[in-house]
Amino acid sequence: MPEGPEVECVKRSLKQVIGKKIRKIKLTELSQKYQKYQNKQSFFDKLNGCRLKEIERIGKFLIFKFDREEVVLNHLGMSGNWILLKNKSQALPSHSKVLIEFDIFPNIVFDDMRNFGQFKIYHNYEMVLQHKPIQKMGIDGLLAVFPLNEFLAKIGKNNYSNREIGSVLLDQKLVAGIGNIYKSESLALAKINPTRLVRTLTLEERKKLGNSISKILHKAVESMGSTFNSFRNPDGNEGSGQIWHKVYGKQDEKCKECGNEITRIVQNKRSTFYCHKCQI
Ligand SMILES: [Zn+2]
Repeated sequence: MPEGPEVECVKRSLKQVIGKKIRKIKLTELSQKYQKYQNKQSFFDKLNGCRLKEIERIGKFLIFKFDREEVVLNHLGMSGNWILLKNKSQALPSHSKVLIEFDIFPNIVFDDMRNFGQFKIYHNYEMVLQHKPIQKMGIDGLLAVFPLNEFLAKIGKNNYSNREIGSVLLDQKLVAGIGNIYKSESLALAKINPTRLVRTLTLEERKKLGNSISKILHKAVESMGSTFNSFRNPDGNEGSGQIWHKVYGKQDEKCKECGNEITRIVQNKRSTFYCHKCQI
């Protein structure tokens, strides 16, 4: 599942279509097999001739803004991705759902194998901000300066105190954009055991965790900027995230710091990887 850094990379890779004029937004034939894509063509038709002004990322959502009031909210879901089509001869990927044709190439296409991607259309930007998951969205972990005090205030709330930190980090109301990979990696960097209850974390540990989250999310974006994670960017490149991961997906491999075996546990139905010697 794409996490915040992957979505940020998708956004950055789409930079080359910003400012271009939309010729047509087409829902593919395949998309019409799914109810969520039906009856959307007439709205998309209204955007023909508009310019794509900006793509904003909030948490794991992308917001497409045009030179008119309407906005399109897009979530990549489990497997959705935007792919750049550089010329006419490039075939559509096999799970294409939405194709945006511009006045000049490249065009972009939303490809979504597992079909959890979402498009929602709003009359204006203010209305998107009222969308519940966006309204409740926590700190943007990719801000240039991580708001540590806000993080300390949020994590100090009562509803988290008796929960395991490994589960709490996935709550998008705390820090938006953290998914399963960066949850494990942030805890490994902060040397905190994921099974600790939030109320047992000292102020020092909470600060260290906040700073680790920020470091890990930025590192993820940087490493994807050059090469790419199993998640492909719109240019079709593969990623290199696994190279720097300390614990994620490394069950039974040796911890690089202490040689102990990395453990995998399940918290709230999601895998967590950690070293129980380094992370206390
Ligand atoms: Zn270790």
